[in-house]
Amino acid sequence: MIFESNALSVDWLEPGIAQMTFDAEGSVNKFDRNTLTHFHNALNVLHDLPDLKGLVVASAKGAFIVGADITEFLTLFAEPESVLQHWLEETNLIFNKLEDLPVPTIAAINGYALGGGCEAILACDLRVADSSARIGLPETKLGLIPGFGGTVRLPRVIGADNALEWITTGKEHRPDAALQVGAIDAVVAPDALSSAAVAMLKRAIAGEIDWQSRRARKQAPLTLSKIEAAMSFTTAKGMVAMKAGPHYPAPHAAVALIEQVSGQGRAEALQGEHAAFIKLAKTDVATALIGLFLNDQYVKGKAKKATKLAKPVEQAAVLGAGIMGGGIAYQSAVKGTPVVMKDIAQPALDLGLNEAAKLLGKQVERGRLKPDGMAKVLNNIVPSLDYAPVAHADVVVEAVVENPKVKGIVLAEVEGVVAEDAVLASNTSTISIDLLAQSLKRPENFCGMHFFNPVHRMPLVEVIRGAKTSDETVAKVVAYAAKMGKTPIVVNDCPGFFVNRVLFPYFAGFSLLLKEGADFQQIDKVMSKQFGWPMGPAYLLDVVGIDTAHHCLDVMAAGFPERMGKMENDPVDLMFKADRYGQKNGKGFFQYAPDRKGKPKKTVDDAALAMLTDAYGAPKSFDAETIIARTMVPMINETVRCLEEGIVASPAEADMALLYGIGFPAFRGGIFRYLDTIGLDRFVAMADQYAHLGPLYQVTDKLREMAAQGARFYQ
Ligand code: NAD
Repeated sequence: MIFESNALSVDWLEPGIAQMTFDAEGSVNKFDRNTLTHFHNALNVLHDLPDLKGLVVASAKGAFIVGADITEFLTLFAEPESVLQHWLEETNLIFNKLEDLPVPTIAAINGYALGGGCEAILACDLRVADSSARIGLPETKLGLIPGFGGTVRLPRVIGADNALEWITTGKEHRPDAALQVGAIDAVVAPDALSSAAVAMLKRAIAGEIDWQSRRARKQAPLTLSKIEAAMSFTTAKGMVAMKAGPHYPAPHAAVALIEQVSGQGRAEALQGEHAAFIKLAKTDVATALIGLFLNDQYVKGKAKKATKLAKPVEQAAVLGAGIMGGGIAYQSAVKGTPVVMKDIAQPALDLGLNEAAKLLGKQVERGRLKPDGMAKVLNNIVPSLDYAPVAHADVVVEAVVENPKVKGIVLAEVEGVVAEDAVLASNTSTISIDLLAQSLKRPENFCGMHFFNPVHRMPLVEVIRGAKTSDETVAKVVAYAAKMGKTPIVVNDCPGFFVNRVLFPYFAGFSLLLKEGADFQQIDKVMSKQFGWPMGPAYLLDVVGIDTAHHCLDVMAAGFPERMGKMENDPVDLMFKADRYGQKNGKGFFQYAPDRKGKPKKTVDDAALAMLTDAYGAPKSFDAETIIARTMVPMINETVRCLEEGIVASPAEADMALLYGIGFPAFRGGIFRYLDTIGLDRFVAMADQYAHLGPLYQVTDKLREMAAQGARFYQ
């Protein structure tokens, strides 16, 4: 043994050829401080090893190296810039040491080589991957750029164009794609990885592969003519402006940096990388995106725990083959849980199956699924007009019409058919789980399972615990949602549950503005372009359905009369009464007609404008700050209430639910992160300015207290 530690070891494979094997104590290899220290020490030993002729860098785990340790980031980035500079210099010294070994080096890549893992393979002279490899630099997704030499080495290895694409999108790449651009030198089967790496290394040692010139290229300025450079960087800037937009500074910074250091050698270029990295590490956007990554790990961890506790769901059933039932059946089948889809109408079943077939067809078209895979999934959806095949289901998801009476009857019927320990879950969007539980003999086996539309796309599932729901039931439904590839978040029962409960106060803020003559198009523009929502509130109401929203408003008014009582002359009522239901019937705040692809295209509708002007007067302009405050304060206050009342268990889960359920702007990190960023005292002052607008604008006592104490939601 040449070197041994709890993170990696180095040993001879055969005379002259050593292998550095990463094998950390946890489940994956990552570049935490401990690993970096041992990595450095091992390289120091290797530099002085007289008989060394070549080095293989490999992993003993199922993945190569997943990247830097993101759990260390927020604390580290809060340090003064000089500390960050030191950390980057020290770490890059290590990567340079690997690149500068006096012998050829090869990375043998299995599984993930992301971020720092990808930067480590780039510091080697040669790279061979097996078919399981996934390679990429995802740092821009965290609001950062690669900081261990990735912006310097990657363009010099795969060319500026490809590197700009890899770095600005942050995507991971399959080995065949990586091979095509020259990021790796060969792809082999997993059992041939080690022997292929040694064989290639031997060719380098024998002088058959010119590893020295490959190495030199990484340390020299980029070879680009002026015209090539202008083309590459202008195109990249255009792409980034279009795709990332103005709220995400990292991809823009990456292009600027790569351009800036393109004429420089390694040492100077790395200095540029350090400076750009530090600047980004100090931004609110990086804090927000890193925070989301950590929150995601947290909620996934909770789901994993539930999965360990729960008996696996082998067979599912869904009642109702409508928009939601069809989507749930598809998602269940596609992720490997066979499902019975029951409806009372044959046309509904046909429609549900056709929708599933259409979605699968698209996957086949894109090459993500083989035709026999499609047949297998479709066979896993068994349509039925009676309950008989539902009897064997471990979990039944009820997704019939939103009517408490119908749901009560259907739930009681199915309870009589399934096994004693089967779990029933309702996909209701508004009806209290405790109310529905009253129809059941075994309310402990019942909870809410609230999907979002379209089911196959929206990542969130709210799992709603009723007063009588057992822990086993929650665990089983959480496990099932996770198996369906969704992010389950457990909330307690209340009208609107968590997501809709905080969404409707936002709509109330919007309605109040309209009643004062605000222009909904201006509001939509401010809330989407400036605040960053995927769409503004008027468009969102049209997408949700004005009839659905109208119904929800009634439920919320009954549930929270003191804050959400029916608003007189509410624009949503106005639209509803005029039969303007939004996208579903082609007219709401906007009007819709199918575009060439058959998707509804939104245009301005003079009739809607005239109707609003009649009701509330000629449109008036409000400044963006007022629009944001008046729509967001009610949503934020309600979110804070949900946390205080224990509807949602933690700021992390609340922020993830808002991101995954309604597309809260990721660069703001969620409502609690947003509050921490702007400062609780500033928020309280902002809300107080609008206190005269009613109780939705009133800050809770506890939040006021936290603000006075200078407290935060995230530490
Ligand atoms: P939908 O009208 O498209 O589908 C309802 C289906 O239930 C119809 O196919 C109908 O034939 C069937 N059905 C009615 N009675 C039945 C019975 N006794 N047994 C079996 N099937 C029966 O409705 P949807 O939009 O899919 O909504 C279903 C549920 O999901 C509702 O509770 C709704 O609130 C909730 N939900 C909807 C959305 C959404 O955006 N559409 C989002 C989240 C939750």
